[in-house]
Amino acid sequence: MPVNRTLITAWISPGRETGWLCPKCSAGQLNHIKGKFQSADDGVPVREIEIPALYFTAMMRCSNDECRLATCVSGTGFSDVVPDESSGHRIETLFQPKHVKPSPALISIPKECPGNARAELERAFTSAWGDPGAAGQHIRIAAEFMLDALSVQKHTPSGGFLTLEARINLLTGEHAASRESMLAVKCLGNAGSHTSGISQADVFDALDILEEVLDDFFVGYRKALRVKTAEIIAAKGPVRK
Ligand SMILES: [Zn+2]
Repeated sequence: MPVNRTLITAWISPGRETGWLCPKCSAGQLNHIKGKFQSADDGVPVREIEIPALYFTAMMRCSNDECRLATCVSGTGFSDVVPDESSGHRIETLFQPKHVKPSPALISIPKECPGNARAELERAFTSAWGDPGAAGQHIRIAAEFMLDALSVQKHTPSGGFLTLEARINLLTGEHAASRESMLAVKCLGNAGSHTSGISQADVFDALDILEEVLDDFFVGYRKALRVKTAEIIAAKGPVRK
């Protein structure tokens, strides 16, 4: 599943549940813990607007009683005067998460994915909310670990380290089709380390691309589906084996 852009960029508020899926059990939803949503302003107006900067922290818990994972959310807020039918106007405050730990999974990580790559991707999920540069770097490290898992050469003959691009170009045979995808992920991850920067949208693109690569490297579901598709077309009907 591609990154749900709507869910991760939506504003939240204490009285409204987010619909975020629990990253631990994938069965419950992360709901606000009553009384654990706190906000404060720093008293300094934001630019020309006479509204101070607002910050918040909130705790959420998985709705699945078998799991009950706790999650910490923090970010910024914004209050504004909006029209109201009964009173004419009211103050509405909305909050934008910038850090969610542990974060809902932004893409599917197959169980076959090596643990070190999974850990980096989970760090990327947490950073993706408000620090795209850090997310890009975690994605880049995850890509290195994924190549390690395939035993792709890591060192030069003299003992130095091959660049990530050089390692990606060594992908041949059954994983050659993922070479371009990995190069695109590397380019986006690199941008996270440079002044040109990487946007949140770039991080989402990198994760979407990496999700396909994860399948190719560690599961092979899409490849098996393509083979089955070709067999069905060739047989002009169901394939019995
Ligand atoms: Zn859960």
